Amino acid sequence: MQKTQLFIIISLLAVLVWQVATLNAPESVYETEYAARKFDAATIYYTAQDEKYVSLIARMTDLYLPLLMTDFGRSDTGCHVTVVIRPDKSGSRNRAVRYEEALPMGSYAGGVVYILSPTLWLNKDFDAGAMEYFMQNGPLIHELAHHASANMPSGERWLREGVALYYEYKYTGREWRADLEELAKRLTLDDLRDRFEELDYRIAYRKAFEIVKNYANTHGEAMLQAVLYQTIN
Ligand SMILES: [Zn+2]
Repeated sequence: MQKTQLFIIISLLAVLVWQVATLNAPESVYETEYAARKFDAATIYYTAQDEKYVSLIARMTDLYLPLLMTDFGRSDTGCHVTVVIRPDKSGSRNRAVRYEEALPMGSYAGGVVYILSPTLWLNKDFDAGAMEYFMQNGPLIHELAHHASANMPSGERWLREGVALYYEYKYTGREWRADLEELAKRLTLDDLRDRFEELDYRIAYRKAFEIVKNYANTHGEAMLQAVLYQTIN
C-alpha cells in the first residue's frame, strides 16, 4: 500500500472517530459546568445558588421515585434519575422547551428531569414553609411521574400529561387547575387527541387530568395501568 493511500485511510478513520466522539458528547452544559451529588435515587446537578435545595430534592426523589416506579411496574428496572436544577431558563432546549411552555418550573426530556431554579420562582426564604411549598407545588413529582411512565407505549402527549398529572395528584393531593373544571367540559377526548398542541394548555391539561383520574376512580389503578400498557405485548 502506498503511503498516500495509508494516509487517506488513517485520515478518514480519524474523522470517523471524531464524529462518533462528537455524537456522544454531552448535549448540555450541566455535565461539565455544574456541581453534582449522587444519592440513592438521583444524581443531582446544580449551581451554587441552588445548593440549599439539593438535599430536599434528594429526599423527595428517594421517597417518591421508588413509589412511582412501583406504580408503573418498574421497581426492578433500577430506580435512579438525573435531576438538573437549571439556574435560569437559558439552558432549556429541544424538546424540553415544549414542556417548559406548559409547566414553566420543570420539564422532562431524554431521561433527565429539569427543574427551574426554585430561587427564581419560590418567593420565600428557605425555611420549613418554603420546603412545604416546594413539595406541594413544585414540579418535581410531576416530572418524576414522567420519568416513571417514560416507557408507556402511547406517544399521545395529552395522555402522557394526564397520567403525570394524575400521579402527581395521587402523591401531593394537588389537582391541576380545579378552577378550570367548567371550561374543560367544553373539550372532548377527540379535541385532546387531534389538536392538543393548539388548545389552551391549561384547559387541555385539566381535561387530560380529569379523563385519567375518572378512569382510575371508576376502574382502579391496576386497570388504568393495564390499559396504558396494553399494546406492549
Ligand atoms: Zn408534564
